[in-house]
Amino acid sequence: MVNVIKQLVSQEVVNQRSYGKGNKIQYITPHQTGNMGIGANAQMHANLQSNLNSRQASWHYQVDDRIAIQSFEDDVMCWAAGDGRGPGNTASIHIEMCINADGDYEQTINNGAALVKMLMDKYGLDRSRIKQHHDWSGKNCPAQLRAGYKGITWEDFLNKVDGVQVEENFGSPQPSPTQPKPVQSGNSIVDYLNAQGIDSSFKNRAKLAKQYGMNNYQGTAVQNIALLEKIKKGVSKKPSTKANLNVDGKWGKSTTRALQKALGTPVDGIISNQPKNSVTNAFYDGTIHFAIGKQGSNVIIALQRLIGANPDGLMGPHTIRALQIYLGTVVDGVLSRPSLVVKEMQRRLNAGTFVK
Ligand SMILES: [Zn+2]
Repeated sequence: MVNVIKQLVSQEVVNQRSYGKGNKIQYITPHQTGNMGIGANAQMHANLQSNLNSRQASWHYQVDDRIAIQSFEDDVMCWAAGDGRGPGNTASIHIEMCINADGDYEQTINNGAALVKMLMDKYGLDRSRIKQHHDWSGKNCPAQLRAGYKGITWEDFLNKVDGVQVEENFGSPQPSPTQPKPVQSGNSIVDYLNAQGIDSSFKNRAKLAKQYGMNNYQGTAVQNIALLEKIKKGVSKKPSTKANLNVDGKWGKSTTRALQKALGTPVDGIISNQPKNSVTNAFYDGTIHFAIGKQGSNVIIALQRLIGANPDGLMGPHTIRALQIYLGTVVDGVLSRPSLVVKEMQRRLNAGTFVK
């Protein structure tokens, strides 16, 4: 979700630049500021309103490529539609999207779409309630979207709004239970993944995001749009397997996890199906998490294939020996504490070069 900061204007400004409380909130009207000047970002516009705008005008939110700032409470009737006491000024929330030359235009549009969606959900409004300033008074606003500036049309903007996914438990206001959820068009990442037969759950999208190099995926609108773009373009089909291990020579759960990730086997930090005797054998460094079994472990089979050891899935001295040869460390078939071969493995897992 776009980060919304409150910088509410004083009561004096509310009195002098609005009709006061009573907004019926039936519409959302995204505008564009018309100010391409460098620095004409959300903060500048918020300050303009805080300091009593010399123009007889006001709006609730201003958005740029980084943040949204709220200047007036949603229930205030701002002067942004140019229709006097008409529904534009008395029943709509108004959002100014910045077009400052030093901002990222498309990111601002994405953030604007995310804010519109958040307010739609909050007030149970559907797509038909998104209006242009032009609808209220004929003004050519939002001018850039109306002209398809940088290839983004008004229709594209509405599609971006539709594509916004609001994750449960991820901070954004939820639709009230009495209001039906807006029907998603075919442009959301969920629809896209479903159409491809790919699991579209939040969990899997988070996994995909990681694979496509996005950190801290939280299912925000902006992230969903970015992720969909990356998936469509296939920016990086190869999962990033770089680990962030302490290079301490101790083979703990995190090292197993990194190895599992690098080798593409299920990631649980545990080397499963090892016969009891092997777990207590001298080669074992004392920190590896094993599970007892007979069939051998998938990650060890994958490791053995990689390093040219007999793929029996058992973590015996022959595997350690082959690993030591593979990594160019002393070959003795034993893991010491700390172990040089484990150190080297951790180093290469961190660099993403363990699997060549
Ligand atoms: Zn406008």
